[in-house]
Amino acid sequence: MNRRSFVKNAGVGFGAIPLLRKDWLSQFIQENPYKMKMLRNDVGIFTEKGGTIAYYISKNNIAVVDAEFPEQSKHLIDALQKDPGKPFGILINTHHHGDHTSGNISFKGIVPHVAAHTNSLLNQQRVAREKNTEDQQLYPDITYGDTWEYKKMKENIKTYYWGPAHTNGDSVIFFPHANIAHVGDLVFNRRWAFIDRSAGASIKNWIIVLDKMQGQFDNDTLFVFGHAFDPEKITGSKADIKAMQVYLENLLAFVNSQIKAGKTKDEIIKATSIPGVTEWQGDGIDHGLRAAYEEEIQNIM
Ligand SMILES: [Zn+2]
Ligand SMILES: [Zn+2]
Repeated sequence: MNRRSFVKNAGVGFGAIPLLRKDWLSQFIQENPYKMKMLRNDVGIFTEKGGTIAYYISKNNIAVVDAEFPEQSKHLIDALQKDPGKPFGILINTHHHGDHTSGNISFKGIVPHVAAHTNSLLNQQRVAREKNTEDQQLYPDITYGDTWEYKKMKENIKTYYWGPAHTNGDSVIFFPHANIAHVGDLVFNRRWAFIDRSAGASIKNWIIVLDKMQGQFDNDTLFVFGHAFDPEKITGSKADIKAMQVYLENLLAFVNSQIKAGKTKDEIIKATSIPGVTEWQGDGIDHGLRAAYEEEIQNIM
């Protein structure tokens, strides 16, 4: 069959549809670079660039958890102010990292309160001073410790803090009515985790934090993760919390065994796999190995 008769047989649309579809798709992506998805009970998620955002649309106002970057939070604000067009009541940060808080600034004058764990605020202030970006920050005006409850919406929002993990200021934001917990960067779902030792991270305690998290929530709890390798796996269940815990346990155990075997830091961070860790992907396996090495060496010395 020559090309002409093939096209004729396949119909004109055969070649035209994918082309049209591609144009339509790229235009759609350009206009809507983000994704918004309602999960359940008026709680939804927003993803574009950075750590996943969650929002709760209450009867009279909206709560937001995390803010990605300024451009992204603007997209969220525009979308929510158009539909459903309610005012914002509170913005809560899971922790200070720029991919979760640099979008706070877009909420300036729009949200009456920003809340976070005390250490999250201290970290945000320290990093902003170091990077000379203090004028680009909207800092939390409400800080909390181990637990906190925000009671000014139809349903209360609760927060939990169990000590150092990914940083020393990670809290879990829980919507009890929906049974949805935004765990921020306490879970990198099937993706090599960033471990911020400069902000007081502890892998050893992170494992304990994930244990407490599994004890706190039930089998119906829907978890929202800061990051995932597969965008479809940005939410999950308790089994994913357990998988994250096992990954961190294997990471520490591997690095420990390598140190005991007399391997140097450079040798250890060159590893391309970790025994027992089969599902984790992406960039930065070396970053976790380095963080684990530094933490373990500190404990040994
Ligand atoms: Zn993050
Ligand atoms: Zn982070």
